[in-house]
Amino acid sequence: MIEFDHVTRTYGPKPAVTDLSLSIPRGELFALLGPNGAGKTTTIKMLVGLLRPSRGAVRISGHDLVKETRAAHLHTGYVPDEPTLYDKLTGREFLWFIADMFGMPRRIAGEKIGREIDHFELAECADDLAESYSLGMRQRLVFAAALLHDPDVLVLDEPMVGLDPRSVRIVKDLLKSRTREGMTVFMSTHTLAMAEELADRVGIMVRGQLRFLGTIAELRDQVATEHTSLENLYLELTTVQPVASAGTTPAEATGTP
Ligand code: ATP
Repeated sequence: MIEFDHVTRTYGPKPAVTDLSLSIPRGELFALLGPNGAGKTTTIKMLVGLLRPSRGAVRISGHDLVKETRAAHLHTGYVPDEPTLYDKLTGREFLWFIADMFGMPRRIAGEKIGREIDHFELAECADDLAESYSLGMRQRLVFAAALLHDPDVLVLDEPMVGLDPRSVRIVKDLLKSRTREGMTVFMSTHTLAMAEELADRVGIMVRGQLRFLGTIAELRDQVATEHTSLENLYLELTTVQPVASAGTTPAEATGTP
């Protein structure tokens, strides 16, 4: 389970995320959508402990990211948008390194490494140096590493970028099966179609604030009543207007509720 409790993050005087409160239950796949600069990466970095909130608290499985960082990390897997590997390690060595970092007993680590190499179809390249990997292979290896310790929560920043269709299929199937087993997924994406296919609920963030929170069906209800298509509604919700004049809220400025 993931909780954002009145979370604000500023860079200098500038707010990137403002008063975000959001609770994502066990087994839910949640997609955070929004245009460039909306605050998605900032939100994700707070969720994995790379940034501290300026105000408020973020909790994973009840553990506060700031006060109980280690406990929160043990429950979390993270796939960043630009994954880093060690070029002079093979894929298999990299997975052993991650298993050691989590303090996994060797027998269990060996089983889990074998399992993830199978899941992500990495057997053919597992003993090659990571420097020889294509972008898609690197991404698959990072997914394997993120899932090695069976986290309760998986955090994905733009997960499908750089993956070929076969890899996208592997990742989608895996996300579906793991969430059925109870894993919670928090994913940022620019792709409405992906959110529509995978997400139980979506949040649409604009200028650091959630402008919509609900299911795709609820988003569709708005389409049925007010709009021509889901894409048009999304574009309307996320269109960033010039900063409103004094006394006018952003919502009033865009005409959205
Ligand atoms: P994108 O889709 O382009 O990756 P995003 O939704 O992930 O965007 P963020 O990267 O979280 O958005 O940025 C939110 C706001 O915070 C933007 O206005 C951005 O310019 C600002 N910002 C992000 N990182 C920093 C930083 N390190 N220093 C100052 N401002 C920052």
